[in-house]
Amino acid sequence: MDELVLSNLSGTRDLLPEEMAGWHVAEERARNIFERYGYLEIRTPIIEPTELFARGIGGDTDIVGKEMYTFVDQSERSVTLRPEATASVVRSYIQHTMCRGSGITKLYYIGPMFRHEKKQKGRWRQFYQVGAESLGSDNPAVDAEMIEMALWFLDSIGVKGRLLLNSVGCGNCRPGYIEKLRQALQENMPHFCEDCQRRATTNSLRVLDCKVDRCQPYIEKLPVITDHLCAECSSHFHKVREYLTDAGIPFQIVPRLVRGLDYYVRTAFEIVSGDLGAQNALAGGGRYDGLAEVLGGPPTKGIGFAMGLDRLVMVMPTEQSVGAQWRPELYLAFMSEPAFKRAVELARILRHRGHTCYVEFSQGSLKSQMRQANKLMADHVLIIGDNELANDRYAIKSLRESRQWEVTLPELIDYLGSYREKAKEPGAQMAEPPA
Ligand code: AMP
Repeated sequence: MDELVLSNLSGTRDLLPEEMAGWHVAEERARNIFERYGYLEIRTPIIEPTELFARGIGGDTDIVGKEMYTFVDQSERSVTLRPEATASVVRSYIQHTMCRGSGITKLYYIGPMFRHEKKQKGRWRQFYQVGAESLGSDNPAVDAEMIEMALWFLDSIGVKGRLLLNSVGCGNCRPGYIEKLRQALQENMPHFCEDCQRRATTNSLRVLDCKVDRCQPYIEKLPVITDHLCAECSSHFHKVREYLTDAGIPFQIVPRLVRGLDYYVRTAFEIVSGDLGAQNALAGGGRYDGLAEVLGGPPTKGIGFAMGLDRLVMVMPTEQSVGAQWRPELYLAFMSEPAFKRAVELARILRHRGHTCYVEFSQGSLKSQMRQANKLMADHVLIIGDNELANDRYAIKSLRESRQWEVTLPELIDYLGSYREKAKEPGAQMAEPPA
């Protein structure tokens, strides 16, 4: 490529118009389903003070330690492109005192996140997440409802996800477990990778989600947190499982599934897909009852999850997005300058009535315009010649039915109106052109 031609940064990508239908379907279904559960959309800034993530995600995580896009801005302030949205949502919740007495505040978001990770299939440096946060309750039914919502959303776009579940305990039971974990790690220290050896003392829980091959046989022998839960955590975990079972949701308990920070408590979950290869996680979530306090707010119970939209769109069956592909209901073909002007006028009238219309700007033969209409997969072509102009009657051709008939403008409006109504019906049969 010519050196002067710029291209996008490695790990980022352009989502081109022909790829967008799947994204639109996924985003629209997420909004629709989340709002049925009472979650309302929040949009927080993409850029935040670095401190927010250092505190909210934790300095010892890979995200904060290695992956953030951080720079000093013109006001000499350290700012960061958000690597995730939970910290921002909780910050906003505190800042705008969204706390509703004893009620729950339910929020969802959709947007880009930034992490300078190693490039890999299914992993980008700018990627998109849709996520939800529920603030104000530690009722295990909230955990189960949130998981149900996430799985239903996946199901609604034809994606099969497997639920992995764990409890990571709390400030009462986890320290005792961590002590046991540390002892077990000490006994086998030389067998672990360098990162694990460092984590063994700084944040030993994180050894459990190390992916390095040589560590795996030793990780399998480490004590598991589920054997060390206190009575309250045990009861919470039991209830979450009971509610999930009541809802008919299968799950697999994975005692090694952890979130490494102190303010993560109890429920931790992941939803994985069999269709994604190594980067198989579709969603990750958990309870973070201590996060609001870490960010300077009042004690607030909370749970949330984030899903990778890029990965969802990758595994979403194509038939899910076929109906959302853009195509004009009417392609307006014209044969002269006056006919072009009428085409523009008719297109304006019909667009105001909600129809998608396409008018070509370069005048070609009728044949080339028909070719273009077919290429755009237009439903109909309206042919405007001098005769049609004089009589105010137009030839309309249904490209789906291969039939042609004549219409006045009011007839065209009626016909397209009923065509659109029919198209909305489930298993849509398109309106028949009049005989
Ligand atoms: P996390 O915020 O790390 O718990 O990730 C939640 C979900 O976001 C994951 O399950 C992935 O589906 C998605 N995700 C995280 N990082 C990336 C990335 N670099 N590229 C694409 N998707 C990602």
